[in-house]
Amino acid sequence: DQHSAPVPPVRLPLRPELADETPYGAPQLDVPVLLNVNENPYPPGEDVVATIAEEVARAARGMNRYPDRDATVLRQDLADYLTLETGVDLDHCDVWAANGSNEVMLHVLQAFGGPGRTALSFAPTYSMYPEYARDTHTAWVVGRREADFTLDPDHAARTIREVRPSVILLASPNNPTGTALPAATVEAVCAAALEVDIDGAHPVVVVDEAYAEFRRPGTPSAVALLERYPNLAVTRTMSKAFAAAGARLGYLVASNDFVDALRIVRLPYHLSAITQAAAGAALRHRESLMAQVATLRAERDATVRWLRQQRRPDGTPFDVAESDANFVLFGTFADRHAVWQGLLDRGVLIRETGPDGWLRVSIGTPAEMATFREALVEVLRNQQ
Ligand code: PMP
Repeated sequence: DQHSAPVPPVRLPLRPELADETPYGAPQLDVPVLLNVNENPYPPGEDVVATIAEEVARAARGMNRYPDRDATVLRQDLADYLTLETGVDLDHCDVWAANGSNEVMLHVLQAFGGPGRTALSFAPTYSMYPEYARDTHTAWVVGRREADFTLDPDHAARTIREVRPSVILLASPNNPTGTALPAATVEAVCAAALEVDIDGAHPVVVVDEAYAEFRRPGTPSAVALLERYPNLAVTRTMSKAFAAAGARLGYLVASNDFVDALRIVRLPYHLSAITQAAAGAALRHRESLMAQVATLRAERDATVRWLRQQRRPDGTPFDVAESDANFVLFGTFADRHAVWQGLLDRGVLIRETGPDGWLRVSIGTPAEMATFREALVEVLRNQQ
């Protein structure tokens, strides 16, 4: 009968530009020390878990209804948090929220990118940016960062005038290098963007501050510049500082008009009642979570100092990038894969990423970092 007839082979009409693509993501391996995706190593404390459970239970009782489409309460909580963190007065109308800053940035590209338009960033930088561009049919162009991974404001301004992008993405602190941008550089980029005319409009500048809470004293947040540049937006996430990567909550702060543009492209009810409840609950524990961030910052600084004292097998010192984030980029190694594999063999997973020869390690607990240090010394000794 027709049910047992063999199914003929069928080719799916995948867009040609996706034919050779693989899904994004670092290897998910089950090893004791995970220092590969810049997570917060500390699980939420039992007090945080209890508040989340309570709020999620409340949301569950109303789950026959769709959630608040505009997530107004959560956006106000996020605005209040950012006001405390940056000293800038903010309201829920200035804030947008979605499932991770990944989705926030996709909304930005959906609203401001598109066919015939270009998105611009400066490499090396976050490897998801070209994917947002690809998925929204936006052309993708990269300028360069300097050898120390800083951004030359003149090069940035020149590139913006040449490329005439609709969207400029600047990660600060940058992934995978850890580099934070001085306010003057962000201002130079915003000013250059205001010189570009795209059908009577100006490019938008998005400063991706996923790691902002880990910045060192004296490094300002671009949130302070929002008042002066209506084409500027700053994105943040609860994945890192708030130890909530599993909750998927990212957000953006910008002018009212900017936020309204993102509301057009979001899916209806994109942010589940459960996510809104869990994120709001975690925000209430801001103080204890920020104390943990201070611990991680100190561990990061100690890791940078330790790495700077280490030697490659040929006796030369490591190169170690300045870091304002919860990870450190170090190298360079003639065979970085061998170093990465050697660490993995000893139960420590870090990330093979960044320019040739460099490796990136996320900051873990003191015990995890001790295991990392011992393993690295051993791996390099074996290579001599
Ligand atoms: N921006 C940067 C620079 C990142 O490194 C990451 C996470 N690796 C993100 C954005 C996305 O984070 P999330 O979607 O978890 O908010």
